[in-house]
Order: sequence, then C-alpha cells, then structure tokens
Amino acid sequence: MAEFDYIVVGAGFFGSTVAQKLADKKKRVLIIDKRNHIAGNAYSYINSSSKIEIHKYGTHIFHTNVTPIWEYVNQFGQFNNYVHRVTTMSQGQRLPIPINFETLVAVLGKERASDFAQKVETSVATVKRSDSDNLKDWAISSVGPELYDRVIAGYTEKQWGLPPDLLPSSIISRLPIRTDLEDRYFTDRYQGVPLDGYEALVQNQLDSNYITLELECDFLDIRQQLNTNQYVIYTGPIDKFFSYQEGELGWRTLDFQVETLQCADFQGCAVQNYADLDVPYTRIHEFKYLNPERKIEGNETVISREFSRFADKNDEPYYPINTVSDREKLLSYRELARKERNYFFGGRLGSYKYLDMHMAIGQALELISTFELDGHFE
Ligand code: FAD
Ligand code: UDP
Repeated sequence: MAEFDYIVVGAGFFGSTVAQKLADKKKRVLIIDKRNHIAGNAYSYINSSSKIEIHKYGTHIFHTNVTPIWEYVNQFGQFNNYVHRVTTMSQGQRLPIPINFETLVAVLGKERASDFAQKVETSVATVKRSDSDNLKDWAISSVGPELYDRVIAGYTEKQWGLPPDLLPSSIISRLPIRTDLEDRYFTDRYQGVPLDGYEALVQNQLDSNYITLELECDFLDIRQQLNTNQYVIYTGPIDKFFSYQEGELGWRTLDFQVETLQCADFQGCAVQNYADLDVPYTRIHEFKYLNPERKIEGNETVISREFSRFADKNDEPYYPINTVSDREKLLSYRELARKERNYFFGGRLGSYKYLDMHMAIGQALELISTFELDGHFE
C-alpha cells in the first residue's frame, strides 16, 4: 500500500477518470472495486450463446453536449451511431416518450391535440418547478390530467415506490415535454454506445504503468492499512463510509430479470417503458438494438425486465430518493466529509446525486482541476 500516492475507491466512470488523470501526472494510483469488474454501472458483457452485448445494470447510452467531455472519452474508445427512441405501453397503446405531438394525438385525439399543444407550451413555460412543489401538481398543471394518468402517474409510482403527490417535481425535470414530432430520447449533440463496449473503454483509461487495479476488494476492509500521506478518492456510498452515523440515506435499487428468448425480435427497440401500475416492471431492455452496426446472427434475443424497489443496506444503491430528510442527512455527511483530511468524495454514490456518465466524468475532471489549483502536483 505504501507505494501509492492516491487510492481511488470505485472503478466506475468517476474513479477511472480520476485515476487516468492522476497517472498522466505521474502519480502512482491504486484503484480498487468491490465488484469483479470495472466500469461501474455502465459495465456490459457479451452473452455467450447469442453474442449480444448485455448492459448488466440496464441500458447505458452515452450522451453529452459538452465537446471537451466527448473528446476526452473518445480518446479511449469510439462510439456507434445509436440514437435512443423510447415508447411507453399504456393501456395497450404504444406512445412516444418523452411526450411529443404524436403522444398528444394518440391520447387526446386529432382535434384537441393542436389546441392542447399550444396550451402545453404556455403552461410548461409558466409553471414553476422547484423542490417545494409536488410532481403530481406540477405534471397536471403542465400536461393536464389525461396525459398525466396515461404516461406519468403509474411509471413514476412504480419507479419511486411513492404516490407522485409525495415526490418533488425535480425528479421529472430530466424528461422534456415536447409539442413537436421530435422522438429522440436525448437531443444532445453527441450520443452513442462504445463500439467495443464500456469495459474495453474503461480498460483503456486505466492502461498505465502508474495504475494498479484490484478487483473484489472492499475499501472498508483495507482502510486501516493506509498511511497518513496518502490521498483517497472515495466513490462509494457516503453514509456507509461514516457507518451510517447520521442515519441511512434513501435509495431505490433495481432487480433485473434477464431472459434469452428463441426468437429474432421481441419488441423492436432497445427500451420499452410500461406505464400501467398493474404491470410490475417499469421497462424491458432488448439489448441487440443498441448495436445496429453489428450483424447478430441466429434466432435469439436477450431481454431484461427492470423492477424497482427500496434499497436496504445490502442492496446496490441506484437512484438517490432525495426526500427532505435525506437532504438534511446529506448536509451532516458533507460536514463530516469536510473534516476528513486527505479524503475526497465524488461520483454518484459519494455525492448522493443522480449523475449521467458524462456528468460523472465532468465532476472527476473538476476535481483534478481543484487539485491543480491547490498545488497537489507540484
Ligand atoms: P458507479 O458506476 O456506480 O461506480 C462506483 C463503483 O464504486 C462501483 O463499481 C462500486 O462497486 C464501487 N464501490 C462502491 N463502494 C465501494 C467500496 N467500499 N470499495 C470498493 N469499491 C466500491 N447514465 C448515462 O449517461 N446514460 C444512461 O443511459 C444511463 N442509464 C442508466 C440506467 C440505470 C438503470 C442507472 C441506475 C444509471 C444509468 N446511468 C446512465 C447513470 C450511470 O450509471 C452513472 O452516471 C455512472 O454509473 C456514474 O459513475 P460513478 O463512477 O459515479 O458510479
Ligand atoms: N417518467 C415517466 N414516464 C416515463 C418515463 C419517465 O413518468 O415513461 C418520469 C419518472 O418520474 C422518472 C423520470 O421521468 O423517474 C425520469 O425519467 P428518466 O427516463 O430520465 O429516468 P431514468 O432513465 O434515469 O430511470
């Protein structure tokens, strides 16, 4: 242990980016992960019989508008031209999501759709969205009760385990409301899936003589061996690091039910959402559609049903719930974190913040800039 200047805990995008940048500065880095693979939640693998690439923790599409982040990530792997389009199954009807003009026509009928589109444009522009208003009220004032019932209410309740009037409207801020025919899920300038998979891309990030990787290694088991000069970048759950002394932060976890089917196609697209409450899963992934550039031979397809539930201490944390009480606890944990000399907390788990991959990379690059300003590398 003594030979390393920095210990990076977690080989997801945040940890791997920090490790790569530190190695660039000729710092000796030990990066560990408690899982048996790198790439964190973006990890994917090839299913042996069908040769289809499976995203183990759900479909991951890289998307960003930030050119330096796109250029940074492209140094380690190229991306395909996959463009994400999603529909949601509601009362037997397949509707575009995010809501667009086609969704309005399908739910309200042709005659009402145009008038309604105008009203939606005004209401979306004027309805204020803040943490203090609830998701149900915000959604109904923005898109009206019919669209709320058909595409938002059931999905949201399944995803978060709470009725939408008990949830902050900020949860839905990621999902645009459109009145034109745009049907791409993400409209970012750059998007795609790595041509050789996420594992190969992160492997390339970590390919340096200055980096040592240890898998199946839990930091909480080795922290006693550190010496006082070493810096630690910790990307695990912040409440766990402090032994839950301020209480547990709320997380949603996911269960994935993977199935190989003896047919060439199941749903015709990579992700199909399910809006109705009586369908227990939120969405089904069909992975072969993420790689349109590959010729997948054979009569097989692999799907994964995604179920959401509250996480307990032994579950993988995926989505921060971020209730008022969570935010209070988080402030106490951040206060404790500030007192930890030589420790830096980041990434989705370390900052208790929903981050897309490009945001995790951006946060890691910012940390390195702070190190530079603080004279770490002199
Ligand atoms: P992670 O990837 O979670 O990595 C943290 C790593 O730390 C993990 O590998 C974990 O095992 C390790 N770790 C934790 N504690 C310890 C410990 N004590 N000791 C050792 N190791 C430890 N983003 C997108 O941009 N596009 C998408 O399409 C997209 N889809 C998503 C779908 C789902 C279902 C989910 C849940 C997330 C999705 N995301 C997507 C978000 C994406 O997964 C995150 O942006 C990314 O994982 C953040 O990287 P990270 O390094 O912060 O965290
Ligand atoms: N959402 C919804 N219906 C959908 C998809 C999303 O009501 O068909 C809402 C839901 O509250 C969800 C939020 O929008 O939690 C954000 O959706 P997004 O697809 O960004 O979530 P993610 O893919 O990260 O799970």
